[in-house]
Amino acid sequence: MSSIGGYSMVKKEHILIPKPRSAFILVRCSNCNAERVVYSHSSMSIRCRQCNSLLVRNTGGKAIIYGVEVNRFA
Ligand SMILES: [Zn+2]
Repeated sequence: MSSIGGYSMVKKEHILIPKPRSAFILVRCSNCNAERVVYSHSSMSIRCRQCNSLLVRNTGGKAIIYGVEVNRFA
């Protein structure tokens, strides 16, 4: 004697985690207004070439941008 009454219909759906879109971003230094293209997921901190102030700081994931984001290239 077999029973199918206890069959579970629970589906395990995959929850899609939106991947952070990496991009190149044109950042303007808030100190000297020099512009520089940086990578949004840069693995290293990036400093302004002119005044050496920090433009992008590495966090291990998405970088923190300290300058002014002027443009974004996907
Ligand atoms: Zn600067």
